[in-house]
Amino acid sequence: MSAIIAAAEKHLHELVLPQVDEWEKLDHFPREAARAAAEDGLLGMYAPPELGGQGLSLAEAIPVFEVLGRGAGVYAFSLSMHNIVTYAVSGFGTDTFKQEWAPRLTTGDAMGGFVLTEPQSGSDAAGLRTRATINDDGSYTVNGHKAWVSLATEAELYLVVVKTSPEPGHRDMAMVAIPADTPGVRFGPAYDMLVSPFMPVADMFLEDVTVPAENVILPPGQGLSGSLMAIDIARTSIAAGCCGLMSAALDTALMYSRDREMFGQRELDMQGIQWMLADVATDLEAGRLLYGKAATLLGTPEGTLAAAHAKRFVPDAAQRAAATCIQVLGGYGLLKDYGLERLYRIAAVMKLVDGTTEIQRMVIARSLRKHAAELGTVPIPTFKD
Ligand SMILES: Cc1cc2nc3c(=O)[nH]c(=O)nc-3n(C[C@H](O)[C@H](O)[C@H](O)COP(=O)(O)OP(=O)(O)OC[C@H]3O[C@@H](n4cnc5c(N)ncnc54)[C@H](O)[C@@H]3O)c2cc1C
Repeated sequence: MSAIIAAAEKHLHELVLPQVDEWEKLDHFPREAARAAAEDGLLGMYAPPELGGQGLSLAEAIPVFEVLGRGAGVYAFSLSMHNIVTYAVSGFGTDTFKQEWAPRLTTGDAMGGFVLTEPQSGSDAAGLRTRATINDDGSYTVNGHKAWVSLATEAELYLVVVKTSPEPGHRDMAMVAIPADTPGVRFGPAYDMLVSPFMPVADMFLEDVTVPAENVILPPGQGLSGSLMAIDIARTSIAAGCCGLMSAALDTALMYSRDREMFGQRELDMQGIQWMLADVATDLEAGRLLYGKAATLLGTPEGTLAAAHAKRFVPDAAQRAAATCIQVLGGYGLLKDYGLERLYRIAAVMKLVDGTTEIQRMVIARSLRKHAAELGTVPIPTFKD
């Protein structure tokens, strides 16, 4: 076991599992857990050591989210987003900016959020309207309305994707870092929804928000492509987290069915039950292979497709797995005490965030069409008069 996986296991068993039920009742992020995560080296996994990070590759670090996903998928998701923000700041930020912010992010003194979506542009991210005017001194003044901002009001720093001209399309998009306390930043109330409220999600309003040139993470022209690279990492990390969720659901169903007796035998000895759980186990194995492959390909030309395969398959499989495991426990599967209803809810959310299942199919289909164009021919039946 690598050192980072051992650290994640320790974090899971000492901190996440004992507290997750209490977190579910909170309406704010458990910051003390994030600070402990920093001490365990989980907040700057991709950032270089000189900025307080671990300097790990994506393939080394992404399995951490499978470990954390066993305990609290939403917490794993928050930490994944934070690590991506830290990666972007330490990798692409100006020297002044990264010297100020990267150490704060890697120590958990500050949390980071990623802000792309708007009320009218979710899947169709290129349709965003938040507009930055570039001033003579290079500073950016931003106006707009973002939606679905995870860690809203909790994070200290938000990487916001903006347009820099009135022209339609994405060629002018940039990414700017906006500290939460910048004048003109305001959040709406947290959405009342299916997701655990300890990760608040809300609208973000930006009214004449001005940040200096040092806060530009990606200049005009790179905002959307850079965001899509970040999203590939997020998709792979979500798939890893969902494998953790599946393995937690499977273990619960195995323990229960092993010890539950009915019709004079153990539930686990019934073939129908074994087949249900065997399917969950196969999906889990497939999910691990998919996210593991994607994690090694991120940053190469094949990374986007591999991430899409993982994100297309695993959250769907995780929701199926949670439903199957609930069924194995019968009525007891619905009780919060067993944690399966939470896993089911989280899987539903993971099918939407960072690109829905349908959007992954679009990415995969794009590559299939490209492949089709390179193939030879087969006879196509035609109608002759
Ligand atoms: C809990 C949560 C946290 C989030 N956190 C963040 C965050 O921190 N930062 C951020 O920027 N965003 C965040 N998001 C936003 C998320 O990425 C979007 O919800 C997602 O991209 C989908 O956009 P939408 O909800 O507007 O759905 P829409 O884009 O309106 O899609 C509606 C439906 O149409 C389907 N659809 C879309 N296009 C096609 C097509 N061509 N063919 C077939 N079906 C299609 C979709 O799959 C979906 O089922 C979060 C979302 C959730 C649920």
